[in-house]
Amino acid sequence: MPAHVPNQVPERDRSRAADAVVTPVYLDYQATTPTDSRVVQVMLPYFTEIFGNPHSRSHAFGTAAETVVETARAQVAQIIGADAKEIIFTSGATEANNLAIKGIARFHQGDRSQIVTCATEHKCVLESCRALEQDGFTVTVLPVAANGLIDLDRLEAAVSEQTLLVTIMAANNEIGVLQPLAAIGAICRAKGAYFHTDAAQAVGKIPLDVTAMNIDLLSISAHKLYGPKGIGALYVRRRPRVRLAPLLSGGGQERGLRSGTLPTPLCVGFGSACVLAASTMEEEAHRLRKLRDRLFNGLVARLQHIYLNGDADRRLAGNLNLCFPGVDGEELMVRLRDLAVSSGSACTSASIEPSSYVLRALGLSNEAAHASLRLGLGRFTTEEEVDYAIERLAAEVNRLQARRSVDGWRRLGTVE
Ligand SMILES: *Cc1c(COP(=O)(O)O)cnc(C)c1O
Repeated sequence: MPAHVPNQVPERDRSRAADAVVTPVYLDYQATTPTDSRVVQVMLPYFTEIFGNPHSRSHAFGTAAETVVETARAQVAQIIGADAKEIIFTSGATEANNLAIKGIARFHQGDRSQIVTCATEHKCVLESCRALEQDGFTVTVLPVAANGLIDLDRLEAAVSEQTLLVTIMAANNEIGVLQPLAAIGAICRAKGAYFHTDAAQAVGKIPLDVTAMNIDLLSISAHKLYGPKGIGALYVRRRPRVRLAPLLSGGGQERGLRSGTLPTPLCVGFGSACVLAASTMEEEAHRLRKLRDRLFNGLVARLQHIYLNGDADRRLAGNLNLCFPGVDGEELMVRLRDLAVSSGSACTSASIEPSSYVLRALGLSNEAAHASLRLGLGRFTTEEEVDYAIERLAAEVNRLQARRSVDGWRRLGTVE
């Protein structure tokens, strides 16, 4: 077996029901995932033994590194149906999104001048678009429906001969909803606009095909799919070729689009993580869906007031975003130190937002947004952990909700 392909032995036996639950229980898989230990094993030799600069082609140290980097590139390409030549390694999805949006705008400056995006995009997409307004671009931010999905008729009406780029995410990091990529791609193709999708939460979780979906640019992050932090990729279509201006000046690596020495161990780990995710995708989605439904149904059975944020069906198998009317999410998290959950997006909690802009975009009140928690399940989540989370969440939410009058709960809940 070549060194870059992880062995397929499951790292721990989930069937041992006698396993005690170790706390805190990690239920924040949309914020990040642990690097799979099989991936770590594959990475290790590339820190010390095979340490050459992959761009130093004049000797064996360099070419050994180059060979495994190119294998990794092909592995990343495969998971989205792309060609290896269409993959540009970056430091993560934040950089990939910046390169896609600013790169295409700067290359085509003076050409088409409109960019279309949506209200629930990741901050790095929204802020990249905002930055381009300074350069004379017009940014159209589409609203979403109460279920978190964009309205295709609205998108079609917004896209014109002036539209350079449409950037709509594949899966939302807070509410897990899946946007209709193929339909969006078809609209973009018909109008001659480029289509970029931030697929950081979707790659390795749902099937993606850049050709079938008419995707021109696609961003990936390794640490959302059990790979290492600090690496990601941008898919850039070759036929017909999508042209970008680079963000970094330097040695011209990555076909001139991303200068800098590639981190060989991270590239190798990223590739391995993609191979693992692709080989287990269907089975894992099925397992997670069952666990997620068990969690939701367990809570619904124990709580009188609970709402699901975002579409119930068109969402990631491992995501729940729940509103517990009358409860302060921050207070609930303090009481649930034994559960690692999130009250919003980990990426925005560094800034001071009155409440989640994603939940507000679904029409939730400030108070309902504050009463919401994101629960993310993943590869290492067990049934025992889910059962533990049900009991702990139900106990604390019931305690907090008992302090409030029932009046107004309807009003505080979702918009349904
Ligand atoms: C995590 C995430 C990002 C940022 O990815 P990094 O690799 O951490 O920079 C961007 N978009 C979405 C949807 C994400 O979930």
